[in-house]
Amino acid sequence: VFILAIESSCDDTAAAVLENDKVRSNVVANQLIHQEFGGVVPELASRAHQQNIVPVIDAALKKANISKEDLSAIAFTQGPGLMGSLLVGSSFAKSLSLALDVPLIAVNHMQAHILAHFIDEENFDKPDFPFLALTISGGHTQIVKVSNYFEMEVIGETTDDAVGEAFDKSAKILGLPYPGGPLVDKYAQLGNPKAFAFTKPKVPGLDFSFSGLKTAILYFIQKEVAKNPEFITENLNDICASIQHTIIEILMDKLKLAVKETGINRIAIGGGVSANSGIRKTLKEAESKYGWKTFIPKFEYTTDNAAMIGIVGYQKFLIENFENSSVVSKARIAL
Ligand code: ATP
Ligand code: FE
Repeated sequence: VFILAIESSCDDTAAAVLENDKVRSNVVANQLIHQEFGGVVPELASRAHQQNIVPVIDAALKKANISKEDLSAIAFTQGPGLMGSLLVGSSFAKSLSLALDVPLIAVNHMQAHILAHFIDEENFDKPDFPFLALTISGGHTQIVKVSNYFEMEVIGETTDDAVGEAFDKSAKILGLPYPGGPLVDKYAQLGNPKAFAFTKPKVPGLDFSFSGLKTAILYFIQKEVAKNPEFITENLNDICASIQHTIIEILMDKLKLAVKETGINRIAIGGGVSANSGIRKTLKEAESKYGWKTFIPKFEYTTDNAAMIGIVGYQKFLIENFENSSVVSKARIAL
């Protein structure tokens, strides 16, 4: 089975070809244009998708060394995401499936961040069901109980900002360019995580809150910069390490509670923020520290990519969960 997968939910245009559960190609075109604006500009994103989509799909087919006539189905991201961006991918997928007369498969982007763990990769184990997924990305922060490929229940989520936003907004306060998450990670690796303390939010149960942290960081930085205008440049590594440390503690506290409440100790992380080196290290250490089994995705399947859309496409192909071209894109969809 050959699946062509298309992902265009936000600012990256991505296409992948899977042969069953193996990735033959995985191509992403990043849109650097948004850096100037300090965030994704939806109208610019959809225009850039229109320019990128044909070359990205051509590149994915070429790298996979197959022609479009070999494809068994076309999978695309139905949502959640930016409507103008989603529509570029879905229109293309619909036309291609009609032209080639192959099935069309709609994929939920957040399910894909979780099911990326089922891509067949050497040295990467697939989690047994049930497991807990911690999805941490630019728009979401959820703890999901995954009972089967398509049986998922959100048992905790953010009540305000997502973790990715917490990283990006903190970075912005520090004057770092968008998206700042990877930069905070980079500087954090050189700093002392205990240099500065930020209060952790008190949120009941398995839910999260990150907006208070952002405000605490803003006030802290304003106060210190008033005393010493060079404060940020002189302490950038320590500030980043301390912010990242606080975020990781918030996530770990909730994971520990989730394990206690569900009795499930298999934990898989997914979403763009699961690229973070501190989070990856902490999760790995949790295996010996707490006796958990943790699953950390291959780096290229953390931030938005089409391979993860392809693996869901493959699972849906096996159960013949197909759509016709009247299927609509959705800016918001539940898991
Ligand atoms: P969603 O999946 O919720 O729709 P999205 O698709 O926009 O959101 P992803 O691509 O999954 O988001 O994740 C992007 C986020 O991940 C950004 O906020 C980015 O800063 C963050 N991120 C990426 N790499 C790292 C890293 N190494 N450390 C911290 N954050 C990171
Ligand atoms: Fe995403």
